[in-house]
Amino acid sequence: MKALQYRTIGAPPEVVTVPDPEPGPGQVLLKVTAAGVCHSDIAVMSWPAEGFPYELPLTLGHEGVGTVAALGAGVTGVSEGDAVAVYGPWGCGTCAKCAEGKENYCLRADELGIRPPGLGRPGSMAEYLLVDDPRHLVPLDGLDPVAAVPLTDAGLTPYHAIKRSLPKLVPGSTAVVIGTGGLGHVAIQLLRALSSARVVALDVSEDKLRLAREVGAHETVLSDAKAADAVRELTGGLGAEAVFDFVGAAPTVRIAGAVAAVEGDVSLVGIGGGALPVGFGLLPFEVSVSAPYWGSRSELTEVLALARSGAVSVHTETYSLDDAPLAYERLHEGKVNGRAVILPGA
Ligand code: NAD
Ligand code: ZN
Ligand code: ZN
Repeated sequence: MKALQYRTIGAPPEVVTVPDPEPGPGQVLLKVTAAGVCHSDIAVMSWPAEGFPYELPLTLGHEGVGTVAALGAGVTGVSEGDAVAVYGPWGCGTCAKCAEGKENYCLRADELGIRPPGLGRPGSMAEYLLVDDPRHLVPLDGLDPVAAVPLTDAGLTPYHAIKRSLPKLVPGSTAVVIGTGGLGHVAIQLLRALSSARVVALDVSEDKLRLAREVGAHETVLSDAKAADAVRELTGGLGAEAVFDFVGAAPTVRIAGAVAAVEGDVSLVGIGGGALPVGFGLLPFEVSVSAPYWGSRSELTEVLALARSGAVSVHTETYSLDDAPLAYERLHEGKVNGRAVILPGA
């Protein structure tokens, strides 16, 4: 089968032919219908050889949707032909966090060498994807594969971050979204669907800010040296009850800290390497800062339900597997508005 692989440190990913996978006992083979392109893959492909955590070649793709093509011995609960989304952050399934459905925070994944598809084991940018256990599959139940696939990360990750802060997003409150790309433009819609907060969106690109307004941001602000003051002014000097940074670089985490209100929440979701110092007098009183990772299995079910209700719709542009390297190029150049989705069957 064809697959998109990251093969050489620092080189662009390549479309190659690899053997068709076969499901072993307990595994499910999916024919991939759609695979999402995440900025985290670009981060992975920028890491140096020294300390690189995964084996190469690596088939990319940690957002995946497909139809069940074959079942390994002993698999029950799914049938050939079922249309499903893949829950990506696999865990051991049995530790205290996994028991809560929070496999993203599995206590034993590192020790057992369990990795998400596309982030350490073969991912969804291929004609077929092996899934280790049917519990990682959530029925699409009528959702379109292209519309649904980004929800498994670009939807689930902001959903998880936002859910933590919902008690603070009461009427009259403000939520700030920094970086309105794949994750950010879904975050705006989630905030509008789940809270009555006023949503202020920041980006460096006017195109992205236009999309932010289209999907429901009340205010947009160019993310420059004056951005923090502009956001504070919009909140009458008080700041935002919740700030979601989908860039996570030094300049944006600084803005995130500078626009937080007393008792506000700051979620650093982007992995841009920035750090926000926490200490008495450094931030407004009792600001809580966290760096969340992905989301739980039940949260994925919730995000898909929200999409079915029509409250969230991801802006997508599609590419064949052969053109997948181009999708990464465009994402790297900041040219993707919304989420790029690869169609391995096209
Ligand atoms: P993306 O490229 O689609 O979006 C990033 C957006 O940030 C773009 O619109 C870009 O114009 C904007 N941006 C860049 N610099 C900015 C600045 N200084 N101020 C404001 N906006 C700026 O990326 P994505 O796929 O949405 O991923 C967003 C980030 O989240 C990445 O760092 C990714 O690695 C990370 N991520 C983290 C998790 C997690 O679990 N923590 C999960 C998925 C993605
Ligand atoms: Zn991702
Ligand atoms: Zn576990």
